Amino acid sequence: MKKCYICKKIKPYSEFNKNKHTIDNYQDGCKKCINKNNLRIKKEFNNLYGVWGSMKKRCYTSTCEAYKYYGGRGIRICEEWKNNFKKFYEWAIKNGHKRGLTLDRRNNDGNYEPSNCRFVTRVENNRNKPNIKLDIEKVKVIKQLLKEGELSQEKIGTIFGVHNVTISKIKLGKLWN
Ligand SMILES: [Zn+2]
Repeated sequence: MKKCYICKKIKPYSEFNKNKHTIDNYQDGCKKCINKNNLRIKKEFNNLYGVWGSMKKRCYTSTCEAYKYYGGRGIRICEEWKNNFKKFYEWAIKNGHKRGLTLDRRNNDGNYEPSNCRFVTRVENNRNKPNIKLDIEKVKVIKQLLKEGELSQEKIGTIFGVHNVTISKIKLGKLWN
């Protein structure tokens, strides 16, 4: 019998995978816990890979809808992150990344780099963007995107740094009409 260091339960050796690098030749976590852990890590990895990819698109792909508000405004990604997903991933894990949080730049005119980035809830993210206020030009783009219907209201909100409620109000003609 062996105690799993994660769930703290005492289980028979058959509940543990073999590992020749440990004293008793079994892993310290039970199979169930290790699988759960691996799945969590895999999900987090995939999630962050998506965050990294869309950040690069916004900054460097001029055909991306959001480019105008990022790359088009001179927002760049530091060399370390831009060229190396692993570096970004490591920074994110160390800096409290969790599913459901969004990557925020403290200074909205600053670059994507460790000193200017943090993970916040979406509401905080929008609150911290007083610089991005809608103007008639942006609203025109928003209306166009709504008409095309390819992006969700939430996605459009993220692009323009406003809450999806705002996008919804524009759609209903309650704002900027
Ligand atoms: Zn366990």
